[in-house]
Amino acid sequence: MEIACTAKEEKLFKHIASVAQSKNMPCYIVGGFVRDKILQRPTKDIDLVCVGSGITLAKAVAEAFTKKVKVNYFKNFGTAQFKYDEFDVEFVGARKESYSRDSRKPIVEEGTLEDDQKRRDFTINALAISLNEEDYGTLVDPFEGLVHLKQKIIKTPLDPDITFSDDPLRMMRCIRFAAQLGFTIQTDTFEAVKRNSNRLTIISKERIADELNKIMLTNKPSIGLDLLYKSGLLEIFFPQLIKLVGVEYIDGKGHKDNFYHTLQVLDNVAVRSKDLWLRWAALLHDIGKPATKRFEQGHGWTFHGHDAVGEKMTYKIFRQLKLPQNDRMKYVAKLVLLHLRPISLTKEDITDSAMRRLLFDAGDDLEDLMILCESDITSKNKNKVKRYLENFEAVRERLKEVEENDRIRNWQPPISGDEIMNIFELRPSKEVGILKTAIREAILDNLIPNTRDAAYEYLLKKAEELGLTIKNK
Ligand code: ATP
Ligand code: MG
Repeated sequence: MEIACTAKEEKLFKHIASVAQSKNMPCYIVGGFVRDKILQRPTKDIDLVCVGSGITLAKAVAEAFTKKVKVNYFKNFGTAQFKYDEFDVEFVGARKESYSRDSRKPIVEEGTLEDDQKRRDFTINALAISLNEEDYGTLVDPFEGLVHLKQKIIKTPLDPDITFSDDPLRMMRCIRFAAQLGFTIQTDTFEAVKRNSNRLTIISKERIADELNKIMLTNKPSIGLDLLYKSGLLEIFFPQLIKLVGVEYIDGKGHKDNFYHTLQVLDNVAVRSKDLWLRWAALLHDIGKPATKRFEQGHGWTFHGHDAVGEKMTYKIFRQLKLPQNDRMKYVAKLVLLHLRPISLTKEDITDSAMRRLLFDAGDDLEDLMILCESDITSKNKNKVKRYLENFEAVRERLKEVEENDRIRNWQPPISGDEIMNIFELRPSKEVGILKTAIREAILDNLIPNTRDAAYEYLLKKAEELGLTIKNK
């Protein structure tokens, strides 16, 4: 083999080779597996291409195993897939394709290996390794993929205008691979992405989000996001982010470029956490700035309320990009909303109740919020950065002390809504909400101690103000 395989992989390939030979079907390992092996990246997905029907070969290979293996197949695509040990193995028949202008659905015909390699997205993804007896293990590399792997270049096998126009998702993949592998996109290929960026509109939001998330998960996500911006693709599916670009001056006063600031914050978070959704919070933390930007005479640029506007925009953006509409979305929106709060706690004379309030509002996400805030420091002045970080460290200490005393993080007020309804024989209503909030706020503000007795006494007082009396005393 021209690639270094494990004994387990070698055994699997020998098995596939012998079945393919008995069926008289030329067969090759192709694409991502070959690329990643040469780059020595871990990979468990094995793609195979054969001349003839991929489904027929997959079934024959599966039947010839000693253990039972279930084959899933997709007749429309002519592909078949099974799991074997830790491997995800997929078969496809070699094909020739042509596309219509308005869809990714190709008109497919059977083809040769070379036809099939031509329709792949990049030269580094078009490498194949023969599993055939006469040249078992030989690399088949018609487009200099190996050279491009060594040179760290992303380039299409055909004229890039054809490759991208045929399937515009490839433009997202182009940038994703550049970001993931740390490769450079060859100039003609990148120019073609720019020319064809509008074609991305025919791609489903889910597939775009898939690629975007892969970019978000790279070691330095700013690289991919900047390429998305410069290629024109970002404009197509995420115009809100483009609005952050640029600096405006009035009376000689400018504000920072919020797009590049955001990318810096995202990279800072990426150093500290691999969590996709914390990274999303970084990407969106200042998304409300363009809508709230004002120039105040004698004061300068302000973005009052960009946290709350950003929270609302987060929900909209998640819907628009078809990202999960669940607790992950709520988590991102919450961090966007709270991202200024720890800064306000770095001022002097901060009361315990302000600390308690943040503990209560952030709950289990406090640590992530602190990571976001520390990452939000992008000053070039080293002394400033040091001072800000020390301030946050002090806030962390105070929060820890207050939490140890009061246990407020996952705290529930000592009297529940249900109890309030029982005491006053109320149905679920506005009054119940008012009383519940009043107790919670009084405890957070330290007006009353965090005990049941104190809360009960306070409840009676508040209820009286609302004209409520206790039934069945
Ligand atoms: P990864 O698994 O890391 O996403 P990959 O290159 O293996 O990377 P897959 O989506 O698993 O990507 O696809 C396997 C192979 O199929 C690719 O290497 C490439 O040869 C081909 N391929 C996938 N998607 C496309 C596409 N949209 N256009 C052309 N070829 C593609
Ligand atoms: Mg793959």
